[in-house]
Amino acid sequence: MQQVYNFAAGPAVLPQPVLKQVQAEFLSYHGSGMSVTEISHRSSLFQDIYHDAEQTLRQLMGLPDNYRILFLQGGASLQFYMLPLNIATKRRAAYVDTGHWSQKAVTEAEKISGMQVDIVASSKASSYTTIPVMPTLTKDYDYVHITTNNTIEGTAFTQLPEVTAPLVADMSSNILAQNYPFEKFGVIYAGAQKNIAPAGLTVVIVRDDLLGQVTGLPTMLDYTLQAQKESAYNTPPVFDIYTAGLVFHWLQDRGGIAGIEKINRAKAGILYDYLAQSKLFSSPVAADARSMTNVPFVTGDPELDAEFVAAADAAGFKNLKGHRLVGGMRASLYNALPIDAVAALVDFMEKFEKGAG
Ligand code: PMP
Repeated sequence: MQQVYNFAAGPAVLPQPVLKQVQAEFLSYHGSGMSVTEISHRSSLFQDIYHDAEQTLRQLMGLPDNYRILFLQGGASLQFYMLPLNIATKRRAAYVDTGHWSQKAVTEAEKISGMQVDIVASSKASSYTTIPVMPTLTKDYDYVHITTNNTIEGTAFTQLPEVTAPLVADMSSNILAQNYPFEKFGVIYAGAQKNIAPAGLTVVIVRDDLLGQVTGLPTMLDYTLQAQKESAYNTPPVFDIYTAGLVFHWLQDRGGIAGIEKINRAKAGILYDYLAQSKLFSSPVAADARSMTNVPFVTGDPELDAEFVAAADAAGFKNLKGHRLVGGMRASLYNALPIDAVAALVDFMEKFEKGAG
C-alpha cells in the first residue's frame, strides 16, 4: 500500500500505536470476551477506563483539584451555547473575534435570552491573519472568550490576555499540542476529533467556582449536573473515552505536553522555514501569530493551488485543501502526525516548485 500522510483538520490522524492497540483489544477488552463498544457504561470495566482517562488528562494538563473534567457530546459547537447558559449569570460576556469559529461562538451566545455580547477585540481588519491586542476591559463581564487556535485562519494565541473576568477558551484545535497556563482558565472546551480521539467526544474543563451558578437548566446542558454524574447522566461515548485514554497515555510516554510541544515546534518550523524562502508558496499569516497545528499556505493562483492539491493527493499527501472559506492549502500538524510526514511534504513541495518554475 502507498505510504499516506493525513494532514486533515479533523477528524484527524491518530497515533499508530493507539490504533494498533484498539485493533488488538477490539474483540475482547481485557479478556472480558466483549468489545469495548459492547460493555455497559455502568460496568466496572468502563468505570476504570473513565477514571484512568480523567486522571491521565488531569496529570497531562497539571490541572488542580478544583477543576472538573467532563466528557460530553455535541461537539465544541454545543459549547458555544452551553457555556454562556451555565456561567453568564450577569448576561454580559466579552469575546475576542479571531475568525470563523470565534464568530460561531458569538452567534450562539447571542441566542441566550437577555445576553449582551461585546466583541472587545478583533483581527478582522487584517483578514484574521493576526491575533488582536486585548484592550483594558472596563465593564464587569461574566467571562472573556478566546479561541486559542484558529483552525481555518492558522493563527494561535501565544500570550494569554490579562483579564480579571474568568478567561474561557475554545481549545479545539490545539488542546494538548502546546502548553498554556491552564490554571488561568475558568473553562476550557474542545471537540476531541483533532488531538484526542475520534469525533463524538467533547472535553469540557470547568473550574469549581463556576459551577452551581444557574439552576433549572435542561439536564443535558447543565455543567453542574454533568459534573455530579461524572459525565454519565446518560450513556457517555464509551469508545471515544477509551480511545482518548489511550491517546493520553501515548502522550505521557512522549514527555507529556512539553515533550510533544517540542516536536510540534520542530514540525511547524520545517514547514514555515521552507515557506519563508519559497518563491512559489507563502504563508498568509503574520509571523508572530502563526499556529503550530494548522498551517495555511498559498501560491496566489487558485488554479495552481488546485493543481498542487491534486498532485499532492496522488503522491499520498492527503487532505491538504484549504478550508472552503479561505481557499489555498492547509497542512494540519496535530500531535499524531509524525515529523517525517512534514519533511516528506516539504520535499514534495520543493519538487513541485521546481516543476512549476
Ligand atoms: N472550534 C474550533 C476552533 C474548531 O476548529 C471546530 C471544528 N473544526 C469547532 C469549534 C467546531 O467543532 P465541533 O465540530 O466539535 O462542533
